[in-house]
Amino acid sequence: MDKKWVYLFKEGSASQKNLLGGKGANLAEMTNIGMPVPQGFTVTTEACTEFYIQDEKLTEDIIKQIESNLSTLEQQTGKVFGNAENPLLVSVRSGAKFSMPGMMDTILNLGLNDETVEGVAKITGNPRFAYDSYRRFIQMFGDVVLEIPKYLFDNALEGKKEKNGYKLDTELTADDLKELVKEFKQIYKSEINVEFPTNPENQLLMAVEAVFKSWNNQRAITYRNLYDIPHDIGTAVNVQSMVFGNMGDTSGTGVAFTRNPSTGENKVFGEFLINAQGEDVVAGIRTPLTIDKLNEIMPEIYDQFINAAHTLEQHYKDMQDIEFTIEQGKLYMLQTRSGKRTAEASLRAAVEMVGEGLITKEEAVLRVDPKSLDQLLHPKFDPAELKKSTPIAKGLPASPGAATGKIYFTAEEAVAASLKGEATILVRKETSPEDIEGMNKAKGILTSRGGMTSHAAVVARGMGKCCVAGCETVNVDERKKTMTVNNEVFTEGDYISLDGSTGSVYKGIISTVEANISGNFEKLMDWADEFRRLGIRTNADTPTDAATAITFGAEGIGLCRTEHMFFEESRIFSVRKMIISDSLEQREKALAEILPVQKNDFKGIFKVMGIRPVTIRLLDPPLHEFIPTDEDDIKELAEAMNVALLKLNDKISSLHEFNPMLGHRGCRLAISFPEIAKMQTRAIIEAAIEVSNEENIKIVPEIMVPLVGKKEELEILRKLIIEVAEETKKEMNSNLEYLVGTMIEIPRACITADEVAEYADFFSFGTNDLTQMAFGYSRDDAGKFLEDYKEAGILEQDPFQTIDQDGVGKLVETAVKLGRNAKEHLHLGVCGEHGGDPASVEFFHKVGLDYVSCSPFRVPVARLAAAQAALNEK
Ligand code: PEP
Ligand code: MG
Repeated sequence: MDKKWVYLFKEGSASQKNLLGGKGANLAEMTNIGMPVPQGFTVTTEACTEFYIQDEKLTEDIIKQIESNLSTLEQQTGKVFGNAENPLLVSVRSGAKFSMPGMMDTILNLGLNDETVEGVAKITGNPRFAYDSYRRFIQMFGDVVLEIPKYLFDNALEGKKEKNGYKLDTELTADDLKELVKEFKQIYKSEINVEFPTNPENQLLMAVEAVFKSWNNQRAITYRNLYDIPHDIGTAVNVQSMVFGNMGDTSGTGVAFTRNPSTGENKVFGEFLINAQGEDVVAGIRTPLTIDKLNEIMPEIYDQFINAAHTLEQHYKDMQDIEFTIEQGKLYMLQTRSGKRTAEASLRAAVEMVGEGLITKEEAVLRVDPKSLDQLLHPKFDPAELKKSTPIAKGLPASPGAATGKIYFTAEEAVAASLKGEATILVRKETSPEDIEGMNKAKGILTSRGGMTSHAAVVARGMGKCCVAGCETVNVDERKKTMTVNNEVFTEGDYISLDGSTGSVYKGIISTVEANISGNFEKLMDWADEFRRLGIRTNADTPTDAATAITFGAEGIGLCRTEHMFFEESRIFSVRKMIISDSLEQREKALAEILPVQKNDFKGIFKVMGIRPVTIRLLDPPLHEFIPTDEDDIKELAEAMNVALLKLNDKISSLHEFNPMLGHRGCRLAISFPEIAKMQTRAIIEAAIEVSNEENIKIVPEIMVPLVGKKEELEILRKLIIEVAEETKKEMNSNLEYLVGTMIEIPRACITADEVAEYADFFSFGTNDLTQMAFGYSRDDAGKFLEDYKEAGILEQDPFQTIDQDGVGKLVETAVKLGRNAKEHLHLGVCGEHGGDPASVEFFHKVGLDYVSCSPFRVPVARLAAAQAALNEK
């Protein structure tokens, strides 16, 4: 049999989205379950692919099948294409597998020409309606099929109104519209040098070709790149007999959701217009009425529609977004699809549908997009105000939430202003650990440099604070305290607003609304916990962050970074003393001052975490990060420490590194200065013993060595840690258990993981550094070229956000295998930023990690993603 390129609606089904596109498959499904669907047919996505194979031509075979289905449609409707007495008119719409708003628009009323328009006028007894449809058709056909600028038609329409002194389109008479049709045809001819096609079959074939061509227009390509839709799947074309909502007061058209798409409430939510065509509802020219009003105007139709909506929802077991038209008192369903909804609505609908027996708990868990949970936990902009605002710049959506406030360019000034009660936004080129307090007090953070794992991004996510990072079009001058965007200069105290979920930056104030999580959230999370296998820990450095993470369901701490603790006002001075010490003796003295405060930090965290596991990492960043950069600060330090300024400056210069990320950091510090690791070990062990005793619980601290590349590094440090731990235990007369493990974040460690495992009780994959070192992309500078890489098709995603399964992922898999070969029960987790990214979580589930660890606000995301990974595997 010849290949089938065209399907009547009644020949298809919802399962054929690949072949018929989403719209076509649903029209087929609706037809088959007895919904009143205007009949039609779908030209398949395969025909689209064939069209491209044939150098953008429809083959004879495809044309033949379109024609033969057209005659079937004529029989079904009792109307004839191109017939002056009883003309068949159709709509032509694109419809790919995935809904793509960037593609071709709809063409309505196709089939009209100078003869058929008269037929329509006669049948309806309404020449005005007929000619209005005709002029709309010429305009749409010209615009959509041949890309004739819309404004040419609009100008002609406005000109006609002006000439006659009309204000509204509806004042145009049949004769006016007849003249307008002539003018429109003239525009068409002068733009493309051929007459407007009068043969309806030609019109149809041209429209089908135009839809296929629109698959590769720039908007469509950009949209596919943005949403990771493959470029080779093509679009289908739906040809459907027209029904008219603009045939008088017993006609109308509308759009409705089976549940409220903002809140999820189980009540049909929609709008309609009497005597209007689809485009009028969307165009916002007339204000539509709410669907309840239909009950007053046409109660029978209303009942019929509500029943149909209910049937569709029950059939699809999901909230539907429906388009309908009423033609002279008869209801038609034009389209149904799964309704787009807010995170809140998605959650509520999923949970309530389980209660209604419509879906299972598993289906509910699979239905909510884990990424959308972020929206629920953070403040967001008032949607009405947001609609009125246009972004002035766009950066990376580094940490979700919305913030509005006055800009400040230094952490100190942000803190001071915040203490005075001002809402502040900290604007920096990039942040450093010195800015922590300012970041903490500000409502939001904007940086012009840095990627998704830059300091600003990581810290902001940890704090649950809105952050837009790497916003390159914002030119920040920290000295002058200005930021310049598109030649507009903003100075200290000016208001801006940030959307950390989209990366958008706005000028001025946009009010925010607080997050509101209801019982549905807890319920869905509990179900997710029933299904997941991965454990979920959090990255937390303070008792407050740890407590927040526990409320979100964290089961332990997977990474406690100790460097942030060194920066607090009260201790930075001792830290600096330690760093610039010349002798071991001096250094040990300074470290002795830090020990009690570190111990207290750890005690605070152990108290909050109770018996939950806590992994504490030894100091990781290069020491120069703790040294002041500001001249006045350096002077102050020199005076306080009684060292010559020159000598201090020398010391600071000696700490300078060309590549700090690959420099004297991580375990290398501990190898050079073992006393730092010793102090930290002692602080951890003393804290754990004291809290175990005070609370009468069993705490098993996990001490983690960063940046190991050679097994010898871990061998030496493990020995040192055990020595200090045992000594401390002995002094305190304790039998505390503890673990010593390592981060796996250097490619060499991955491929020698069997050797490393010999000295490790656990591995925690540091996928931030591992990505940096596997690709050779600096974590802090990659923002500069990642977009170019995406555009050039080299990268599909930012590998610092979503794990690169083929490369970095292979390294992880190798390390898992080698590690477990050497030690069967080696405990494995991940604490890089990927631990909170749904696609990466699925990967970590597959390769058999025991847990993922992510910032507190991403814990629910990880819980849900882990459950979905487990369910999808079944
Ligand atoms: C990592 O490298 O993945 C990691 C968690 O450590 P950090 O981000 O502190 O370098
Ligand atoms: Mg690291």
